Amino acid sequence: MTTELRVSIGAALGRERARVNIRRAMDGLVAKRLKAFPDAEELEQLRDQGRAIRGHAVARLPELLEELERNCIRNGMEVHWAETSDEANGIVLDILRRSGARALLKGKSMVSEEMGLNARLAAEGIEPVETDLGELIIQLAGEPPSHIIAPAVHKDRHEIADLFRERLPEAPAGERIEDLTAAARAYMRSRFQGINAGLSGVNFAVAETGTLCLVENEGNGRMSTTAPDVHIAVMGIEKVIARLDQLPPLLTLLTRSATGQPITTYVNLISGPRRPGEKDGPRELHLILLDNGRSRIRQDPELAATLRCIRCGACMNHCPVYTRLGGHAYGTVYPGPIGSILEPQLQGLGLRGEMAEVSTLCGACAEVCPVRIPIPALLNRLRHESVAGRTGSQVAGQGSRRTRAEARLWALWSWVCANPSRYRSFTRLATALRAMQPARLGPWTRHPRSPANRTQGPPPARSGGGVRYRVVSDAEPLTQGADLRSDRRRHSRSRGQCPSPYRSRPSKAPPRRSSSRTRRRCRRAC
Ligand code: SF4
Repeated sequence: MTTELRVSIGAALGRERARVNIRRAMDGLVAKRLKAFPDAEELEQLRDQGRAIRGHAVARLPELLEELERNCIRNGMEVHWAETSDEANGIVLDILRRSGARALLKGKSMVSEEMGLNARLAAEGIEPVETDLGELIIQLAGEPPSHIIAPAVHKDRHEIADLFRERLPEAPAGERIEDLTAAARAYMRSRFQGINAGLSGVNFAVAETGTLCLVENEGNGRMSTTAPDVHIAVMGIEKVIARLDQLPPLLTLLTRSATGQPITTYVNLISGPRRPGEKDGPRELHLILLDNGRSRIRQDPELAATLRCIRCGACMNHCPVYTRLGGHAYGTVYPGPIGSILEPQLQGLGLRGEMAEVSTLCGACAEVCPVRIPIPALLNRLRHESVAGRTGSQVAGQGSRRTRAEARLWALWSWVCANPSRYRSFTRLATALRAMQPARLGPWTRHPRSPANRTQGPPPARSGGGVRYRVVSDAEPLTQGADLRSDRRRHSRSRGQCPSPYRSRPSKAPPRRSSSRTRRRCRRAC
């Protein structure tokens, strides 16, 4: 792992307050999702349906995009194609210059984050005004989003109240959530006036009707897309679906998987600019279709599954790594399991290949993914691609993390494992040299927490005996300086408390003579 990612993860582990906030929020979202799908059979059927719809769209992507373009133009929209983020930013700036806009109202859009639009607008003297509450909070704090559906999930209301008091004139004295949202609402309403350009993302684009679907809970998406004269919608090319009747199952999966809601407060279906006789809506509507590496991803039959994603965030909410680190640790726009497969493919394995290693491969993400993306299998594939020799693969940066020394080491390991007697000799030798193993295993021994201790509370502190290792609970600060050797010695002294299944037996059972084999297994387990 590079120093940059290691430092970023280390810093995230040190932000205790943010970690507690994230964990609490993720536990809440997991519980809500569970409640939203009470019937397991229905859920599995819906997931099959979701997978089929999205898989079909990705397989027919070029023709669906052409159909979408035709129908959008027929509806009065202007359609723009952008190969890269730079091109997409250039198109947005051109539209804004033509309309004379000095500020841009922004609804929530992960694609605009991917484009780095805010920085580009600021560099051109155009003010980006975030209208989503979470986005507004992180914009005021000068931070990137930490979750794809809840950008400010790492902050609690006390931090937000402090931030508002510092940055917003309407901020209340108290910290009640109602007062904070009212202050944000008042601030945003004042900003909606006088800005004549708005930008939004797109959740799904329907090819057969040329309709853009946008889901949201705050009404800011509707304001940003209807109040200004110019509306710019940005979407990744994979968001297209074939037919309007495919929308309801996808919306059911998206909203329930994301927040546990049966449906979001607002579902906007946008089918063109304001027509003669209509009282609201934009006079110009531009749709920007961003590729940014997606066509390349689609070329690979296995990795193309990445493009089925509907950005619900459920994989992140359930990921044991994300829920303990938070999104900032990844240092990318898309964090968590989806980020770990998407970012290395978008930006190349040379730059982001190590993200595929930030996973335990437990499979929780694949279990909950509403469109059945096999994330662990794709992570394994990307790990392989980043160190593989030349294979003619389409993955950007393929083989970029391969080092000659490591390749030789694995070749040696493969040679050892290919022959049983060689393998036995090797393990005998390794066992004999066991005493030379490092006493400390670095960050691994500092940060993991024991699930058992979470419920039972921290074990009593021991005095003497040189025991420095102690598993910590979630509630207390992380212990530094774990020493596994000391722990092993402690086990061998306190046989009665040994957690090994080979030692624990019912207290009333008659004493048994332990064989040397059992003792050996017990020592290993300890
Ligand atoms: S990978 Fe699946 S679970 Fe994760 S955001 Fe995408 S659709 Fe949701």
